[in-house]
Amino acid sequence: MLSYSESAEVTDLRKTLRSLMRESIPPEFLGAFTDDPADLEIAESFCQVLGRQRLLAMAWPQEFGGGGAGTWEQTALREEMWAHHEPRGAQYMGINWVGPVIMRHGTTAQHERFLPPIAAGEVIWCQGFSEPGAGSDLPALRTSAKRVPGGWMINGQKIWTSYARMAQWCFLLARTGSVDDRKEGITVFLLKMDQPGVDARPVPSMLGNHHLNEVYFTDAFVPDDQVLGEVGEGWTIITDVLAFERVGIARYARCERLLSWAPQALGDRWADIPASLRVRWAMALVHARQSRLMAYKVVDHQERGGLDPADAAAYRVAVTTLDQEVAEVLMDLVGQSAVGDDHQSRRFEHAVEDHWRYAQAATVSSGTTEMQKQLLARSLVR
Ligand SMILES: Cc1cc2nc3c(=O)[nH]c(=O)nc-3n(C[C@H](O)[C@H](O)[C@H](O)COP(=O)(O)OP(=O)(O)OC[C@H]3O[C@@H](n4cnc5c(N)ncnc54)[C@H](O)[C@@H]3O)c2cc1C
Repeated sequence: MLSYSESAEVTDLRKTLRSLMRESIPPEFLGAFTDDPADLEIAESFCQVLGRQRLLAMAWPQEFGGGGAGTWEQTALREEMWAHHEPRGAQYMGINWVGPVIMRHGTTAQHERFLPPIAAGEVIWCQGFSEPGAGSDLPALRTSAKRVPGGWMINGQKIWTSYARMAQWCFLLARTGSVDDRKEGITVFLLKMDQPGVDARPVPSMLGNHHLNEVYFTDAFVPDDQVLGEVGEGWTIITDVLAFERVGIARYARCERLLSWAPQALGDRWADIPASLRVRWAMALVHARQSRLMAYKVVDHQERGGLDPADAAAYRVAVTTLDQEVAEVLMDLVGQSAVGDDHQSRRFEHAVEDHWRYAQAATVSSGTTEMQKQLLARSLVR
């Protein structure tokens, strides 16, 4: 049986974060990637506020610019941020997995060069994994890296690259061996985006400006000291990345917040909601709390250094399907109640719409539900 009680330190941290958000983020904020450039600026300056207080990378060791806090504080931070429409913008990727993976697999020189700017909120990374013929089947990737004096020349195409047009760096997978080698012969490169031969183009979507992109590489150069880990052995690193990434977003926290907000936002109209819809609302709340406990189990394993990719996959299936269940319940609540045109009702309606749009992609990004279920199934016959 799972149980959890929060320490006083973690509760205090939540208060501090909420008060920082109240001071720095307007209540209407619905994420960094809207059509209004001011939202991106809000996210960037908020990251620096967190960075100055060592709250951005709070679970990182102090030597790398982190706060030296525990994993549970980091979990509370993730929850508070996601519940309030991720005011760190694209930074969450650097903090949640790019930095930790560089810590684990990088050289001392790479630690010194790449980690402090992430911890200070000064740099944005994107993830160059998926290609037109390599999404679920990532080992089919074809982007190539050819040896040249002093480094590597990259040619190929990536797709669905979140934040590519605003990122300064790309955590890039490219093939240093033959395509037939599949998982062998893939190498991780830390590639500077602002250089000749890198062309990032937007892919329009309902996820807002800057979100999805395709990136073309034509003789882009990466020096030897920007190879992460051993040449040809990138798959071990990828396994780490995916496990970190799958537990990275506390989706249940936003679900719980929006569900709890509904009766208050609907006011008198709540009484007119049909009983069947109220039952779905209550069930969704239960599922949100179950997902929270699953997340805590994964975090507990991660803290003890024994994160099993199957646990991360099970959690991911639970939390992404929760996101979609909650999106539908909230949309139906908004639709049934003919939300009023007072300020609070409009804020709620916008937040529900934003959640609905993001939830549609949840079961695809970071590995589809079908692939997560296969990971789980394979772990059962091990
Ligand atoms: C919002 C969002 C953000 C993203 N951000 C990034 C990013 O920053 N960087 C990046 O590299 N990628 C990113 N992606 C890409 C994402 O990782 C891929 O979309 C995902 O891995 C699926 O790959 P695909 O789109 O090529 O679909 P496919 O792999 O072609 O899958 C299509 C369908 O077939 C099913 N399928 C495929 N193979 C199997 C199988 N063996 N068994 C059963 N069913 C199967 C899938 O489940 C899916 O339903 C993002 C995607 C989204 C939606």
